[in-house]
Amino acid sequence: MSGIDNLPSLASVIATHGLSARKSLGQNFLLDLNLTAKIARQAGDLTGCDVLEIGPGPGGLTRGLLASGARRVLAIEKDARCLPALAEIADAYPGQLQVIEGDALAIDPLAHLTPPIRVAANLPYNVGTELLVRWLTPKEWPPFWQSLTLMFQREVAQRIVAEPGSKAYGRLALLAQWRADARIVINLPPEAFTPPPKVSSAVVHLTALPEPRFPADAATLSRIVAAGFNQRRKMLRSSLKGIAPDIEDRLIASGIKPTERAEQVSLEQFCALARAVLQP
Ligand code: SAM
Repeated sequence: MSGIDNLPSLASVIATHGLSARKSLGQNFLLDLNLTAKIARQAGDLTGCDVLEIGPGPGGLTRGLLASGARRVLAIEKDARCLPALAEIADAYPGQLQVIEGDALAIDPLAHLTPPIRVAANLPYNVGTELLVRWLTPKEWPPFWQSLTLMFQREVAQRIVAEPGSKAYGRLALLAQWRADARIVINLPPEAFTPPPKVSSAVVHLTALPEPRFPADAATLSRIVAAGFNQRRKMLRSSLKGIAPDIEDRLIASGIKPTERAEQVSLEQFCALARAVLQP
């Protein structure tokens, strides 16, 4: 039995169900239920919320989310071997856990969720970044989620919360910070996982803002930021040449020196430039 519920320890769940970790699925499991409960608490008040969990694996975080009072958890897992272990959790929390077997990148979970919705996941890093970008770029804002609590490689987490002038500052920071509050809430060493990955990890908590921090057209902002950071060592008057023929004037009108580089420009300035570029 574990400290947070009456279910067996995760080590025994893994042994019983033969869940040897597969590298191809990015399986680095968290076996400490006190830690998964701590991550679940960072997701905010889950009472009265549906929680979307991607990649529950043997169910450590799932159990943390349910023990923290989530109204319902919808978990999407690609590895069918995990389903019997997850079924045992569903039995212990009747009507509160639904598991869908499949690839989170190919499944639209919205039909199965009722607002308010929070998202929590410890995912393989490549899938995590792709899902984060999708969750931050829906057609309409505010998005379906109130918050995202996601485990990343520490280096990726630092790119999400980075400030102008730092090496980590770039497209991911601007995308995340334009429409959300983002902060690192837990740092984890490789040994927190079984098997341990090569690098350290961090949990990032993002809260959706009701509207973007500064007004801008999403597609224009994205085009400018992509052009600026694709050639991040170049001055903006040169890297943004393709955005508008009179880009120098528009940079100046936005309060940006044409000789600056993208990494020195704040989110507010990028948004001002996105507006200036659309001026006739
Ligand atoms: N949440 C568990 C934990 O914290 O111990 C497992 C984390 S493990 C890093 C990642 C999990 O995501 C694995 O269970 C893996 O099978 C699953 N997974 C990998 N790719 C996936 C995908 N595309 N869609 C859904 N689940 C996926």
